[in-house]
Amino acid sequence: MSSTREAVEAFWVAGRRATGDDAFDVTNSWDGRVVATVSVPTDAQVEEAVAAAHAVTAEFAATPAHVRAAALDHVAKRLAERTEELARLITAENGKPVKWARGEVGRAVSVFRWAAEEARRFNGGEAQRLDTDAGGTGRLALTRRFPRGVVLGIAPFNFPLNLVAHKVAPAIAVGAPIIVKPAPATPLSALVLGEILAETDLPAGSWSVLTVPNDKMPALVQDERLPVISFTGSDKVGFQIQADVPHKHCTLELGGNAAAVVLADWSSEEDLEWAATRIATFANYQAGQSCISVQRVIADAAVYDRLVEKVVARTEAQVTGDPSDAATDVGPLVSVAAAERVAAWVDDAVAKGAKLVTGGVRDGANYAPTILADLPADAVLATEEVFGPVLTLHKVDGTDEAFAAVNDSKFGLQTGVFTHDLRTAFRAHRELEVGGVVVGDAPSYRADQMPYGGVKASGVGREGVAYAMEDYTYERVLVLTGL
Ligand code: NAD
Repeated sequence: MSSTREAVEAFWVAGRRATGDDAFDVTNSWDGRVVATVSVPTDAQVEEAVAAAHAVTAEFAATPAHVRAAALDHVAKRLAERTEELARLITAENGKPVKWARGEVGRAVSVFRWAAEEARRFNGGEAQRLDTDAGGTGRLALTRRFPRGVVLGIAPFNFPLNLVAHKVAPAIAVGAPIIVKPAPATPLSALVLGEILAETDLPAGSWSVLTVPNDKMPALVQDERLPVISFTGSDKVGFQIQADVPHKHCTLELGGNAAAVVLADWSSEEDLEWAATRIATFANYQAGQSCISVQRVIADAAVYDRLVEKVVARTEAQVTGDPSDAATDVGPLVSVAAAERVAAWVDDAVAKGAKLVTGGVRDGANYAPTILADLPADAVLATEEVFGPVLTLHKVDGTDEAFAAVNDSKFGLQTGVFTHDLRTAFRAHRELEVGGVVVGDAPSYRADQMPYGGVKASGVGREGVAYAMEDYTYERVLVLTGL
């Protein structure tokens, strides 16, 4: 199959392919061509998916682990077999350079593999003696985890396959039905995942992939048959959902302005080459559209000048251009509007006194890798997530100042700390207000089995296969009497 899908793309209602009576185009932001036209479910089809998921809840929870694990293994195998096709599709729908898109498919394979393994060992539970008090004599408590109910998974555009995988795979692993909604800009790889799920013998109703438009989402979010919401996207939409349904179990994986901290002891030529390479790569990969892209470099004055020289050189060496070319490092943003917003924020910073070190050029949906120094505190970029290929430089004096600068943010997702000192690594782990600290690398490292998520405006709860499985379930105790 080519990266252009020909017919109107169907969505998936209760495990079956379906089309509605409306459709929207998915365009390639590199060349503006329409990649596919995707059908929109009618209200009746959305209702069918929700009712079927609700109806199958008990049956799915009771499905043997080996059946669910086998389905997950099958999905992993088929995703791996279809890697190149899926990577090309992700590149076409998202603008992501194909080398990063291949990596994304590989990670989705890993998510399903992990989920198959976790499904086999989940829910051992524990026994607890109750005869520690007289009233508990002859009693025993057993605990097991059970699904909370149907999961509504809402995914963003920047990892159109893997962040859908992070919602679907743990749900299948625990036997929770899931309705997943991909981002409107990038639904195509999620719809192929539907094709693969349809090859399994998971019960009808246990999964749907619905291309519901944003204006129909509030009704779905409010639906009482969907008690769990797993949302990945912007803080604006995520916190609105939480406010609208405070009684639901919501996981919110939101944005960030991740920092790479380079401390004084990270000072050899080799050290600084490595840090600069990782920073320049992960400020710009996917055109900066990752929640853990490097947005801020916080460097000790002792290494600042040497580091910056290298970061600028590595940034200017990034290969920009056609994302379908295997040599391309940085492709377009997801849309012209996204690139215009990034340009406006850089212009705002420069107008308020920031120094443009390199970049600052927009061409359609493309934005050149950009570095700013002397960022004024009132620039939008000083407080908001840029979600574009823009890096800001901050010189600090010592570790105290560096860590204070990291924490001086409304976000708290991940931080990279370049240090050789074990005590400083532990101190970073203790003191940084983030969901993860990566020592010796950029903040952008994520392995899919790790707990992943933020604090503050970066979100609530954790993903990572086993952690999402915990999140989709709750502990229910069984007390036995008269033993
Ligand atoms: P977005 O918030 O605009 O959209 C996310 C999803 O929410 C989409 O599927 C969208 O269609 C849907 N949506 C929009 N309005 C809705 C509503 N009223 N009710 C329910 N759903 C609605 O985010 P985006 O632009 O697609 O993604 C970028 C954001 O995602 C960035 O902030 C990024 O940092 C964040 N992100 C976070 C993580 C993480 O794991 N923490 C990972 C990737 C992306």
